[in-house]
Amino acid sequence: MDKKKLAAVIDNTRGILREYTICDHCLGRMFAGKLGVVSHKRLGNKIRNMLKPRPTKICYICKNMMSNLDLYLKKMLDMAKEYQFSTFLIGAILQPSIHDRDDLIRSKFKLRGIPSIKSDVTREMGKSFSRKTGSKVDYQNPDMVFTINFKKEHYEIKPKAVLLQARYTKNIRGLQQKQKPCDQCEGKGCFVCDFHGIGEFNSVEGKIAEFLIDKFGAQQAKITWIGSEDESSLVLGNGRPFFVKLINPHKRYICLPKKLDLDGVSIHGARVISKIPSDPLRFRTKVVMEIDAENEITSNVLEELGRLEGQPVVLYENSGRRHKKIIYDINFKRKSEKSFRITMESDGGIPLKRFVAGQEVEPSISGILETNCRCKLFDFHKIIITK
Ligand SMILES: [Zn+2]
Ligand SMILES: [Zn+2]
Repeated sequence: MDKKKLAAVIDNTRGILREYTICDHCLGRMFAGKLGVVSHKRLGNKIRNMLKPRPTKICYICKNMMSNLDLYLKKMLDMAKEYQFSTFLIGAILQPSIHDRDDLIRSKFKLRGIPSIKSDVTREMGKSFSRKTGSKVDYQNPDMVFTINFKKEHYEIKPKAVLLQARYTKNIRGLQQKQKPCDQCEGKGCFVCDFHGIGEFNSVEGKIAEFLIDKFGAQQAKITWIGSEDESSLVLGNGRPFFVKLINPHKRYICLPKKLDLDGVSIHGARVISKIPSDPLRFRTKVVMEIDAENEITSNVLEELGRLEGQPVVLYENSGRRHKKIIYDINFKRKSEKSFRITMESDGGIPLKRFVAGQEVEPSISGILETNCRCKLFDFHKIIITK
C-alpha cells in the first residue's frame, strides 16, 4: 500500500472522525478505491487502529446497518431454500436518509469517486450469499432476483421464467385447444384461480398448463400456439409446435421425457430454450377436411378443385388487411352424393371453415363448386415450421 496515500487517508479520517462516528464498512468504502483495496471492512478497521481508537458508537452514515447484514442474509437464505437456481442478483432499497448522510460526508470532506453505500450493501451480501449457496452473481440474466427493502423490512424474490418449446398431439375429439381465463381476474391470477390465471384444466391448454405448473412449481403457464384448431379436431403426426413461459418457477432443472401422455393429449420433445421467438412463425399444415354440400356434387365437378393447387388463397380481414396463403397440394375424394373429403397441404393460418364456406376467403370451395359447402370436421396430420 502506498505510504504517502495512506498517510493522507489517515489525516482525512481523523478530520471525519472528529465530527462523526463512522463504522469500519463505511470508512473503508470511502478510501478503498484510492488505496486499491478490496475489503472495505478490513481497510476501515486498519485505518481505525492506526488512529487513536474511539469508543465504538453507532455509525453516523448507516446506523450500523452494514454490521448487521447477516440478519438480512439469513432471511434471504431462508427464502431461497424453496428455489432451484445457480445465478442471482441482489437489489437493495435503502432509507433515503442514509443516502443523504453519505452525500453529506462526501461533499463536506471532498471525497470523490466512491462507490455508493447501496452498491456496497449488494456487493457484501452477494459475496456472502454466493459463498453460502454455491451460486454466482449474474448481472445480465440471473435465475433469481432478490430485492431487499431496508426501509420497509420487506424481501422479494423473483425467479426468472422457464421457457419451453414442445409439440402436442391430440387424439380425442371434443377437447378445446384454449382454456378460458379465470372470470375473476381475466387471466392475471387471483385467489380464486390460485394465481394460475385459469380456473379449470379441461382443454389442451389446461392439461399442458396443469402438468407443467405442477412439475416446475410454477405460478402460471403462458402458452404461445403455432396455429389453432377446433374442439372437434384431432392433431396427429408430429403434432403442433408451441412455446410455454412458466412464470415464477420454483424448479428449473427438470428432465422431461421425450413423450408425455396427459389423457388425450401428449407432449413431445419438450425442451428448455433461452428465448421465445417474438415474431409470428411461418408454418405449413397438412389437413384432412370432411365436407358436406347443399347440392349433389359429381366427380367431374369435384375435379374443379384441382385448380387450387399451387394457387394463393386471399384472406380478407375486417381491418381491411389481406393475407395470401399458398395451397401446395390438394386431393379430394367423393364420399357420397353430397359429401367429400379434402386432403390439403398449405401455408398455415387459413381459416378452414371460412375457406370452405367462402366467407371473406377467395377463392373458396363453395365458390368453385358453385354450391354451399360446410366443413364439418378437420384434422391436422402434419404441422411444420418453415421459418
Ligand atoms: Zn456505517
Ligand atoms: Zn383468477
